[in-house]
Amino acid sequence: MTAIKQDTVASVHYTGTFPDSGEEFDSSRDGEPLTFLVGHKGMIPGFEREVMGAKVGDTRSFTLEPEDAYGMPSEEMIQEVPREMFPEEMPLDLGMTLMSDGGPFRIVAITEKTVRCDFNSLMAGKTLHFEVEVMDVRAATADELAHGHAHGPGGHHHHDEPEAEKDDDCGDDCC
Ligand SMILES: [Zn+2]
Repeated sequence: MTAIKQDTVASVHYTGTFPDSGEEFDSSRDGEPLTFLVGHKGMIPGFEREVMGAKVGDTRSFTLEPEDAYGMPSEEMIQEVPREMFPEEMPLDLGMTLMSDGGPFRIVAITEKTVRCDFNSLMAGKTLHFEVEVMDVRAATADELAHGHAHGPGGHHHHDEPEAEKDDDCGDDCC
């Protein structure tokens, strides 16, 4: 039986909790397992490290420090943006999360002239606990290795997405 290693495609069910409170922050249990190409930076580093060598039916239970998960929050990820960069009619509130080309950010301060935007992940600085069960492991296809991500159920989809929504980081005949 194939074990999870570099250049395999793994499908896992997982439940993530904050070890301090026991609060669940994410789980695949209500839907499809998470499918990912191993060793291509698609996952937080500690998660891959902990499931290496696991086979179908194996379970893993592990706790990751922030350095092995989403990293520590950084001052460089906080930016002052001129107020006029936002549409005038847009209501801006403290703590609000908005989407930008650079990813999601939270508004952490508002003055007359500027809006302070925090691009740090909400998960930055957090210690995370995971319970993982391996559902499937297979060798990656040549296409998957070329694209750097998994295809098929749980991975990137190719044929059932409208043309306009195609992901352009993925080449011509994919996604
Ligand atoms: Zn692809």
